[in-house]
Amino acid sequence: MSRKYECLVCGRIFPEGQGIKLNLAGREVYFHSKRCALKFFKSLVLYIDQKVLEQAVKSTVKEYEEKLKEIHEKTRKSLERIQ
Ligand SMILES: [Zn+2]
Repeated sequence: MSRKYECLVCGRIFPEGQGIKLNLAGREVYFHSKRCALKFFKSLVLYIDQKVLEQAVKSTVKEYEEKLKEIHEKTRKSLERIQ
């Protein structure tokens, strides 16, 4: 028998290998779907200190902006190669 987990948000039971399993600050949390995980993260954000959150948002946005820049750069280069 495989292990069963309970979704922290909606209580749905799901088998190991399905759903989302995360280790957050040393605590394991389980979600049966991305939707439930997103719900959890939306609440989590509200509990985070505003100053800490501000810095975290800044770093995360920066990380993805840099990734996007790379993607755009690659697209531009491959377009140049075609011409
Ligand atoms: Zn759920």
